[in-house]
Amino acid sequence: MNIEELFDAVRPVTHGNAKPLQFRRVPCETLDIDGTPVHGDCIECVSHKPNGRGYAQLRVGGKNLRLHRFVWEQVNGPIPDGHEIDHRCRNRACVNLKHLQLLTEKEHELKTAIERQLFEEHEDREAAMVFMHLNPEVARKAVAKLFNAGVSTVGKWKREWKARRAFRESLSERVSQ
Ligand SMILES: [Zn+2]
Repeated sequence: MNIEELFDAVRPVTHGNAKPLQFRRVPCETLDIDGTPVHGDCIECVSHKPNGRGYAQLRVGGKNLRLHRFVWEQVNGPIPDGHEIDHRCRNRACVNLKHLQLLTEKEHELKTAIERQLFEEHEDREAAMVFMHLNPEVARKAVAKLFNAGVSTVGKWKREWKARRAFRESLSERVSQ
């Protein structure tokens, strides 16, 4: 089933929308965080404005519906409790089913933390983490000043760094099982 057929199939559910849904294909050359290529184009909604966080959404029956979750559920059934839909392509506007995967909330949180470090990170963060590791007695406030960042930012860096380590460990456990 391609995306156009999918939306034909679900149109009765979305009939509250005055505007018909329209999509565009955008070439995707992304690697998932494990290095696996993400195949196929991203499919982005162009008829409806994304929400403030960049997720494609539309309003149905007075509720905001995030399109990627909606599309996934049309094909796979309701998202199980404690689970979320992850974008392998890291494009929040994308509704290509091949780019979406079901993860537990914890897995999703950790994956997002890793992605931030891998794809949005500055060298400052790694340097600050190494510095803190080697100099555990130095207060976070001093580290923040040294690396020209806020104290809460340094706290966030540290949490994400720990999350990345935990995620790597959990992956290697799974592989060895
Ligand atoms: Zn995509």
